[in-house]
Amino acid sequence: MKVLVYSIHGFDKTFLEHAAGDKHELIFTEVSLNAETAYLAKGCDAVALFTSDHASSDVVETLHSNNIRFIALRSVGYEHIDILKAQSLRIKVANVPSYSPYAIAEYTVALLLSLVRKMNETQQLMNNNNFLLDTLVGFDLHGKTIGIVGTGKIGSAFVKIMNGFGCKLIGCDINENLQLIKDTGIRYTNLKELCQQSDVISVNCPLNSSTKYMFNKSVFSQMKRGVVFLNTARGGIVNTVDLLDALDDGIIKYAGLDVYENEKSIFFHDFTGKQIEDELFRNLRSRSNVLITGHQAFLTTEALEGIARTTISNLDEWENYGTCKNEIKINFTFIKQNYEK
Ligand code: NAD
Repeated sequence: MKVLVYSIHGFDKTFLEHAAGDKHELIFTEVSLNAETAYLAKGCDAVALFTSDHASSDVVETLHSNNIRFIALRSVGYEHIDILKAQSLRIKVANVPSYSPYAIAEYTVALLLSLVRKMNETQQLMNNNNFLLDTLVGFDLHGKTIGIVGTGKIGSAFVKIMNGFGCKLIGCDINENLQLIKDTGIRYTNLKELCQQSDVISVNCPLNSSTKYMFNKSVFSQMKRGVVFLNTARGGIVNTVDLLDALDDGIIKYAGLDVYENEKSIFFHDFTGKQIEDELFRNLRSRSNVLITGHQAFLTTEALEGIARTTISNLDEWENYGTCKNEIKINFTFIKQNYEK
């Protein structure tokens, strides 16, 4: 199959080339897919997309008019694709439903530990030959209550790690994970109670119309004062303006973020020597109690191998059978829930 791979980066190109071997003709471009760049796919059978690409309705139409029949996503999330439009035009879309959930879960723990043990400040003092400890007092995680919103593959990997730390675990999910209850003793509750009881809250659910701005002023106001708030899922789940207010009010003591709601125009690009115009982002980044990184929780060798392997096997299946097990098929209930609100 001839495939245009949009948004290719130095970190994933060799993994894709290796997984594809000589089975598919991969054409790489660093540009992201959008209304201006969709025409580049002309002459290909498929496109392979990253989270920084944006296949809105008009983009999907342009892909269709250029005879694109398959969209292979190099991600778990698919909120950046108009699946309904693709389905109506008989373009098949498949994601990578699972690739090392440990990469993201372990990264979430790294953010958490860096914040509560003040690793950034420590490094800065060290570099200035200052070995005084007075400003570096942290707190134990052992015995603290961790609230996990979304206990799927990544959330449950995170829960298991925090179980090993000796934390109390409470979860909130539209589907309770019975095996996780057995394995860790996690107790499920609603979002309000989770907010009231947690010392640390980790967001691990997908972004869709029911989770957009799930964390807003009203939800932040229900949280314990001094909570640590972690989001390694998707930026749009959190209202950033309200998050900044919650930081100002002292409700949130520390925030560890790997995603940001307006990240598309910033993350995965090099702005060295240039100004970042986005005021909200600059505000977040300027705070010593906020650790924000550029959507890199997935960035391990194991995860990149997994993403490449599944992306290519999705293309293999389409080529050989015309269908593929990771195809995203939207049923009527989902459409009602996500598109008619
Ligand atoms: P998953 O589908 O295995 O788990 C998601 C869980 O969220 C499910 O248990 C689901 O029932 C639950 N959920 C859905 N709606 C909910 C709601 N309204 N309230 C509470 N729970 C809800 O997905 P996963 O593999 O664990 O990935 C989770 C998310 O992590 C992805 O959707 C993606 O956005 C994000 N992610 C981020 C990175 C990164 O690099 N930062 C990498 C991969 C995935």
